[in-house]
Amino acid sequence: MSYGFETLAIHAGQDPDPRTGAVVPPIHQTSTYAQDAVGSPRLGYEYSRTQNPTRDALQECLAALEDGRRAFAFASGLAAEDTLLRTACRPGDHVVIPDDAYGGTYRLFARVAERWGLEWTVARVSDVDSVRAAIRPGTTKMVWVETPTNPLLGIADLAALAVLAHGHDALLVVDNTFASPYLQQPLHFGADVVVHSTTKYVGGHSDVVGGALVVADAALGAELAFHQNAMGAVNGPFDAWLTLRGVKTLAVRMDRHCDNAERVVEYLTRHQAVAQVYYPGLAEHPGHDVAVKQMRRFGGMVSFRAAGGEPHAIEICNRAKLFVLGESLGGVESLIEHPGRMTHASVAGSPLEVPADLVRLSVGIETVDDLLADLAQALGGAA
Ligand SMILES: *Cc1c(COP(=O)(O)O)cnc(C)c1O
Repeated sequence: MSYGFETLAIHAGQDPDPRTGAVVPPIHQTSTYAQDAVGSPRLGYEYSRTQNPTRDALQECLAALEDGRRAFAFASGLAAEDTLLRTACRPGDHVVIPDDAYGGTYRLFARVAERWGLEWTVARVSDVDSVRAAIRPGTTKMVWVETPTNPLLGIADLAALAVLAHGHDALLVVDNTFASPYLQQPLHFGADVVVHSTTKYVGGHSDVVGGALVVADAALGAELAFHQNAMGAVNGPFDAWLTLRGVKTLAVRMDRHCDNAERVVEYLTRHQAVAQVYYPGLAEHPGHDVAVKQMRRFGGMVSFRAAGGEPHAIEICNRAKLFVLGESLGGVESLIEHPGRMTHASVAGSPLEVPADLVRLSVGIETVDDLLADLAQALGGAA
């Protein structure tokens, strides 16, 4: 029996508690488990870094939502990324990384993994030829992409990149944080690993930090299970519970995020204080056709360039009221930020530097007319 996405979000890994019938999986806030005899843990559980029932429930649910075989939940998105790097790569290996990406991911490669001996090349992930040129045959172990990218909403062609990566015995790793599994399931297009910052849309309420990896391959799954335990950057039971609570409503939240983002895009494209709008749902977006192939809808993230340059972009961010000025994204509340000075300050001077006049919106699920009114006053002039 195969269930639909909404059903899986609510039920996968979340059967009623066998002991009490509780409909919601309990928070198993325990570090250790009683054993019946030496070497005989009662139900297979020994120690919570290795296994915890609340984390298991979240992992099972995330595996189902990405249509993968196994999922692993971590303390943060970056903890998930670090564990993946050190599972799949050795010092001296090479990875291709995106030219537009979460700043912390770039920092992990450039400031941490590089010191450990990992080599990397930046490629334009919306251009398959650019990725092909960056691959070093024999040494490249991973092609790492985000799609849509952060913050310029570029689109990577997952099916084409999977063929390219596999032709070189490299893994295709897809950070699916911006789309969420409701809008895009990278494993269906040949990706080997899906990365999530569950802090964002999966959790969805800006109340918990977490990360996840999802894979289709059993052998890679076993290696990740070993490293999750051996490196220890696990998601705690309460955090796993909060994330599960959030993920139940992922489908309905994402649809409203998309509805509201579409209205915001429509408004911004007509506004004279806006020089350019980045949204993969726009027919003129260079990645639109690929996005149509691999995404259900186009998401809640919207970026735009202020006609008056950087001072104007900063002014817009400072003037917004309902759009909260802050980093992060994917929560029910709308956020606004200036990537150049906030989320992407750490990539200044690198190939990932972002335009100074850029404003990024995480469009929430509030009443859309209230969001448009706030943008109107922040942009200046009549709505
Ligand atoms: C936030 C984010 C991360 C990092 O996740 P944390 O949970 O903050 O460690 C990775 N990738 C993307 C696209 C993100 O937005």
